[in-house]
Amino acid sequence: MPKYVYDFTEGNKDLKDLLGGKGANLAEMTNLGLPVPPGFTITTEACRHFLTEGRLPDGLEEEVSRHLSALEAKMGRRLGQADDPLLVSVRSGARFSMPGMMETVLNIGLNDESVHGLAKQSSGNERFAWDSYRRLIQMFGKTVQGIDGELFDDALEALKAGRDDLDLEAADFQRLVETYKGIVRDQTGEDFPADPHRQMRMAVEAVFRSWNAPRAILYRRQERIPADLGTAVNVCSMVFGNCGMDSGTGVAFTRDPGTGHQGVYGDYLQNAQGEDVVAGIRNTLSLQELERIDKPVYDELMQIMATLENHYRDLCDIEFTVERGKLWMLQTRVGKRTAGAAFRIAVQLAEQGMISMDEAVTRVTGDQLAQLMFPRFAGDADAKKIAKGMNASPGAAVGKAVFSSERAVELADRGENVILVRRETNPDDLAGMIAAQGVLTSRGGKTSHAAVVARGMGKTCVCGAEELEVSIQGRSFTAPGGVVVNEGDVISIDGSTGAVYLGEVPVVDSQVVEYFEGSGDHEDELVRAVDRVMRHADGMRRLEVRANADNAEDAARARRFGAQGIGLCRTEHMFLGDRRQLVEELILAETDAERERALEALRPLQQGDFVELFREMKGLPVTIRLLDPPLHEFLPDCTDLSVKVALAGDRAEEKDLKLLAAVKRLHEQNPMLGLRGVRLGLVIPGLFAMQVRAIAEAAKAVGGTRAEIMIPLVAAVQELENVRDEARAILAETGVEALVGTMIEVPRAALTAGQIAEAAEFFSFGTNDLTQMTWGFSRDDVEAAFFSRYLELGVFGVSPFESLDRDGVGRLVRLAAEEGRRTRPGIKLGICGEHGGDPDSIHFCHETGLDYVSCSPFRIPVARLEAGRAALVCADSDTR
Ligand code: PEP
Ligand code: MG
Repeated sequence: MPKYVYDFTEGNKDLKDLLGGKGANLAEMTNLGLPVPPGFTITTEACRHFLTEGRLPDGLEEEVSRHLSALEAKMGRRLGQADDPLLVSVRSGARFSMPGMMETVLNIGLNDESVHGLAKQSSGNERFAWDSYRRLIQMFGKTVQGIDGELFDDALEALKAGRDDLDLEAADFQRLVETYKGIVRDQTGEDFPADPHRQMRMAVEAVFRSWNAPRAILYRRQERIPADLGTAVNVCSMVFGNCGMDSGTGVAFTRDPGTGHQGVYGDYLQNAQGEDVVAGIRNTLSLQELERIDKPVYDELMQIMATLENHYRDLCDIEFTVERGKLWMLQTRVGKRTAGAAFRIAVQLAEQGMISMDEAVTRVTGDQLAQLMFPRFAGDADAKKIAKGMNASPGAAVGKAVFSSERAVELADRGENVILVRRETNPDDLAGMIAAQGVLTSRGGKTSHAAVVARGMGKTCVCGAEELEVSIQGRSFTAPGGVVVNEGDVISIDGSTGAVYLGEVPVVDSQVVEYFEGSGDHEDELVRAVDRVMRHADGMRRLEVRANADNAEDAARARRFGAQGIGLCRTEHMFLGDRRQLVEELILAETDAERERALEALRPLQQGDFVELFREMKGLPVTIRLLDPPLHEFLPDCTDLSVKVALAGDRAEEKDLKLLAAVKRLHEQNPMLGLRGVRLGLVIPGLFAMQVRAIAEAAKAVGGTRAEIMIPLVAAVQELENVRDEARAILAETGVEALVGTMIEVPRAALTAGQIAEAAEFFSFGTNDLTQMTWGFSRDDVEAAFFSRYLELGVFGVSPFESLDRDGVGRLVRLAAEEGRRTRPGIKLGICGEHGGDPDSIHFCHETGLDYVSCSPFRIPVARLEAGRAALVCADSDTR
């Protein structure tokens, strides 16, 4: 039978899969000799069993009992013992941190008897004992019994009647306990469970169940956390931050998670229990103030934070509690940070010799780099600044103010940009936070829920803007000077400075984009960090990075961003605008002579386009794809044209009548599977020849070029042979050297890649079409139509159009790469579907041994970084 329960002395930080992040790190701290309250962890394996089988695994209860007895022996008290109770917390803790998404219950073991024992333990502090008891009923009722938390909140507010919670006395809390018990009875039809063991068992099951709470599912989807990991449960002996002003609770970071600057940073709340800090209920004190209040505790905390940072070799965040002057560590983990801080910290740690540059590169991600490439505000000279809060998560966000999560989702679905404004957020606001451009709160610090979650998502956030009077009911807020902002009014928030502006503030490129563009300030600390990371990643990567670019402007940007060639020039984009007329003539041609005339008219224009591209790319490879889309895409819309012809009646123009006939003739039920790609080349004489000649002449005119001619939508080697022979003849005639290769984007091409490689000098995987045809998903329709349901059902964790489906599409890519190389060793292999710019797909391409990825110019830095990271993560796993 598997071992389901680990004492904190048994685990370590590398057991996160089994013990979750919290449990593994509690064990690590215990083993480092830090002051951690004793306890044990129930594994994620037990949770998975509970979720799939609907019951706890056999033997778990006995195992928990054994560990609880050991804990009781160590603490010298029994759980809920009437005269001297041991109390425990039951906390969730998954492999990946999911802040506030799952459940926690504190103070388990309290009931009408043990509450007196607790008061005795705390030298007769009745207030503390009854406050703890009411917290248990409140948390237990809400999270374990599913009672609406507002009922408890309202009862507390009614009792306070405007008083601060510090003004409440023992008798107040005692009365509140009775009210809360009444709420439980009303809502569940049963009494609040007094048996401590039952409380614990129910809490454990509730934590397991909370893995599948809607907000947890949504968070996982957003953060791409697998749905089947489950959570561990930590049972930890309670220490109390709420037993007087010599007690308290806090959170802290070993470096500033917003900027990466060195120096500790944190919030402390006197006479309070853990949840109060994160919920932003009262305003917190800084760690500097803790130094003034309790120097010995502060000194010990600093020492522990230094120990942790050296041990983990990274920024750590911690939760701690002070119980009557004694410091306890309740949690640590490698802390979340903003994208900018991630780069700064990685390079700082490397420069301090704590980690290698290799490791520094693996500590940042392409997604973080992409965030740094977001625009920022142009400057606030003319903007009307109405308030200032804390700069909780950077970026510049502009949108309509909305005051509820539902409204945020509703407007965002209509394509509007919104800023979610709340007093403070809680986990139920997650959907609105995802939908919004940014989040603004009037309460709570940099460690409040809003700040932590927004930073994790890379979303702009200003929190704790206390000058704002937010009225959720009235759907408005009032700023100093009587400025009223109603729902729908546009505001701008600056997550880097904390400023809040009325109206729209113009935004400019980021300094990181300026750096990639070759301008910008190289002395800037962030730019310097990005530069060091990029240089190292470039030095380590094996994959080349090319751009999908169809014009000289994109090609120029791509080169500035570090592209090593063009991996896909879609020539159809060159036939739009004025030239559409010429394509119409080609389609309408009735004789060979008419068709040739139309093609001859297109050729010089096409040649001019290629000259510009070749010039821009200065001898780097340029892969030009011959015409791909169905021809009717170049013709007017059938309905529009029919209406025009019908309205004109007898006076309809000859050309329109011919066009309408052509539109009808070319109509296809499934155009994506119809006359397109290589099929066009084989059906319309002279079309591909014209394009190849234009490429050859352009190459000759520029000189020193490396052209690669790419045939789309090939499914059989015979198709390719025909086009290749024609192309070769033109190249020979013009005396130009160029590779001739093919896209692999039809499943049959992947399956017969060994044959196709006989005729192809390179493969480029068109994973947009390959995904479409492997799944049978119309790429233009399905995402909006039903992907949200598929994501909900867990058919996939992320759209296969976004991130390459390794099991299906990936298998075809691997097979084609292997068979292609078997036929033609050294055949060049690349990818030019959208996946070429997606981090996970880039790692797949590295693992599969492709030669390059090609992506849109703006993604090139991301692809360079991820290619470097892929090489470092799977060093020595060259699969060729
Ligand atoms: C593809 O199918 O992946 C591809 C790059 O071609 P397009 O997107 O132009 O069909
Ligand atoms: Mg395609």
